[in-house]
Amino acid sequence: MIMERSTALLESMTLEFPGFAIRKKGTSRLQRLLGGLLRVVTFGQQRTYVTQYYTVLFGVLWVPESWDLLPDKARYVLLRHERVHLRQRKRLGDLLLALVYLVPIFPLGLAWGRARIEWEAYRETLRATAEVYGMDAARGLGPEIVRRFVGGDYGWMWPFPKTVARWVEEELERIQGSETEV
Ligand SMILES: [Zn+2]
Repeated sequence: MIMERSTALLESMTLEFPGFAIRKKGTSRLQRLLGGLLRVVTFGQQRTYVTQYYTVLFGVLWVPESWDLLPDKARYVLLRHERVHLRQRKRLGDLLLALVYLVPIFPLGLAWGRARIEWEAYRETLRATAEVYGMDAARGLGPEIVRRFVGGDYGWMWPFPKTVARWVEEELERIQGSETEV
């Protein structure tokens, strides 16, 4: 039997990050507390932290209930994004990662550090999407990525839609360029 690509990726991540585990957000008091806190500080804009969002915290990937129902390709794309965060954690350590994620410039409204950290991971989302679903699907993600960066989901981390749209466009060109080289 051929192994699903998300299973293969998961296995390699388990080797790369000792202690790595996937847990359901709903089973964790801390995750539910964070969900409530985020709802308050974003004035209700981030209401789906527990039910829809994937979060790496201290080396554990916290997933919503819907994880079980996701098809292989969707899981694969999500894991590629989260692998970037796990590598960032390895590179920076928990404390520095938390500081960069939360502090410069503001926790809400203009969070340059979080925008840089998330952009590195969303680039990977674009690459993985192009790989498994094709270039059109990657291009189709553009507006949703812009929405996430400028809106309340991540606390209005980089409220400049044109800038984010340009990052996406440049990355898509890079992906396309590397595809045609092959
Ligand atoms: Zn992320």
